[in-house]
Amino acid sequence: MDLSERPAATMKLVGGRLFLDFINTSGGRRRDPSDRKANSDAVIILGEKLKDYFDLLAWSRHANLISEADLQTIIREARRRESEASSVLERALVLREAGYRICMAILGERGPEEADLVILNREITVARCHERLAAASDGYVWEWTSERAELDRMLWPVALSGAELLTAGDLTRIHACGGEDCGWLFEDSSRNRSRQWCTMQDCGNVAKVRRFRTRLRSTGKG
Ligand SMILES: [Zn+2]
Repeated sequence: MDLSERPAATMKLVGGRLFLDFINTSGGRRRDPSDRKANSDAVIILGEKLKDYFDLLAWSRHANLISEADLQTIIREARRRESEASSVLERALVLREAGYRICMAILGERGPEEADLVILNREITVARCHERLAAASDGYVWEWTSERAELDRMLWPVALSGAELLTAGDLTRIHACGGEDCGWLFEDSSRNRSRQWCTMQDCGNVAKVRRFRTRLRSTGKG
């Protein structure tokens, strides 16, 4: 099974942190116009990239969370353990949306929903259960225990990346792309904190063209 052509395997990883790249697997997001609750982050997902478990695998290989050799093993296992694979996908989507809402709460300078923290904590606990201290040539390192092909293994580093972002990251550097129907999250690591777009080639360019057209129109040249 070749997963390399799937949209999930070709998407840009521009979040600056694994957890944010994972959140961006939603594709674009648009604010849900039917939701009128104050402070609501209800969104409509446009162009979902994780439509089945194999999409999640494709993204995980793309994000280098799984080696090519392990990928083939996991593909075989996922075909054999179909219902387990779909529950991993479900967990992934639940984690992703909780992560999104937590980040949006940070952007809105609000506290997170307790339920979202519970979801993230649950996945962090699972991840930590799979960590093992190992001796390396120049000291000690954390390794993943992987005696068998665990179908949820890509969620472990994702959850820990989320924990690290929230505890050790600079939360004031988390931003949502201002592009229309984008909403991708990224960590702005630019020195003067000037990053506005997921990528300059995509949303940045669209905005530039729009500004240019507006300028032409206002000078009567459009
Ligand atoms: Zn964007």
